[in-house]
Amino acid sequence: MHEDIERCVRAVQSKDARFDGWFYTAVVTTGIYCRPSCPAMPPRPENMRFYPSAAAAQQAGFRACKRCRPDATPGSPLWNERADLVARAMRLIADGVIDAGGVPGLAARLGYSVRQLERQLVAELGAGPLALARAQRAQTARLLIETTALPMADVAFAAGFASIRAFNDTVRGVFALSPTELRKRANGGLAAMSGMLSLRLPFRLPLCPDNLFGHLAATAVPGVEEWRDGAYRRTLRLPHGQGIVALRPGPEHIGCQLALADLRDLAIAISRCRRLLDLDADPVAVGELLGGDPVLGPLVAKAPGRRVPRTVDAAEFAVRAVLGQQVSTSAARTHAGRLAAAHGEPADDPAGGLTRLFPGMAALAGVDPATLALPAGRRASFAALVAALASGSVDLGVGSDWAQARAGLAALPGLGAWTVETIAMRGLGDPDAFVPNDLGVRGGHGARTRCSTCGQTASMRSTGFLPVRRESRELPCGHVPKHQNLRNASWPARSGR
Ligand SMILES: [Zn+2]
Repeated sequence: MHEDIERCVRAVQSKDARFDGWFYTAVVTTGIYCRPSCPAMPPRPENMRFYPSAAAAQQAGFRACKRCRPDATPGSPLWNERADLVARAMRLIADGVIDAGGVPGLAARLGYSVRQLERQLVAELGAGPLALARAQRAQTARLLIETTALPMADVAFAAGFASIRAFNDTVRGVFALSPTELRKRANGGLAAMSGMLSLRLPFRLPLCPDNLFGHLAATAVPGVEEWRDGAYRRTLRLPHGQGIVALRPGPEHIGCQLALADLRDLAIAISRCRRLLDLDADPVAVGELLGGDPVLGPLVAKAPGRRVPRTVDAAEFAVRAVLGQQVSTSAARTHAGRLAAAHGEPADDPAGGLTRLFPGMAALAGVDPATLALPAGRRASFAALVAALASGSVDLGVGSDWAQARAGLAALPGLGAWTVETIAMRGLGDPDAFVPNDLGVRGGHGARTRCSTCGQTASMRSTGFLPVRRESRELPCGHVPKHQNLRNASWPARSGR
């Protein structure tokens, strides 16, 4: 999309924040790159250059704009929606895989050679995996420099740099300021000696917080999650230790307070919270796609900006989905709460009532199913699922292959379409997920729709959430409803598909 110069120019001239994250604008006369909605005076079109990633602009020698904070934009929705190699790689890079295992580690997780991976990333993003990881480290470093009083050596370490020197060089290279100058300029860093980080999570407007936070609060597992003082809070299991996050909806950003046992987990904690709340979504594109639907249209108009409540941990979500089979929400919470109380590691939460991490799969694989107050069939499902997740034979991680993950889940005893599709929707984030026989779908309005091409009728989609992105293009008969024809959806909706 960065290649569509005219549209990019229009987006920059109208300072349209919706396009933030889709492309970056560099200005040849100043050597600075910006997000499209930069508050500064738009440059002359002939001086603009467009890049698909911040890393590509950095590689071309441009520095990050200090006014518009091009690094504080939502990510491209594509990386959450797509199942291909580039999207899987982007999710894994956001999850810190390069910092942990280098580019070979990333390639191995994806089952491709380093060369194939590099070629595809450069082709689409204009930058290879190392440059993309470096851009992410620079962003994490800036966040810590500007919002905490941490010593610079700790910032370097937490942001994933191998040395202080690499940290200094990168910060200077990306921002044209030393770390100390950057902190002075932000005039910040005084608040956060207590170990609590306060951040803002940006998103594209509109955002309807009611269903999103309402659902998280209504399904909260006692001891692991809670709603307190206008914020959703939960414990987090992270690679280097545990964390506690509080997420508070606001009109322009989500307030995010994080307490981490190890600051190296900052970037991954942020990316998991963004995923939980679906903050990289493009709600205008989704609304345009669904707004013309006779059943969904009025719901979209009533509450624009709905998001799919997702999860910080797809394996945890899968276990909870099995515990929630054929029981009420409150019974599902009780089952999950018992499991956490018995098998989750203790959590220390001075600010509230969180007491446990949700148990890891290795711990759950050691649980005797006979001790669970569940029907025999569900015990067998639970045991098979946790064994598969613990051994890695089913992988629901951010880099997983969605088709394989679905097939692996469906092969387990007692995991029918409802469970598999629910996990695909909220655990994996697959936009093709469809939960046709969900009570919420059927009970919502009992709606059926008739295909305008062949006349067949089909039951309609969920009203509780919007699990619907890509699949809404097609009815079960295979035809695309005329009003949903993608050619009518305005750019950047669904480009690249
Ligand atoms: Zn700018």
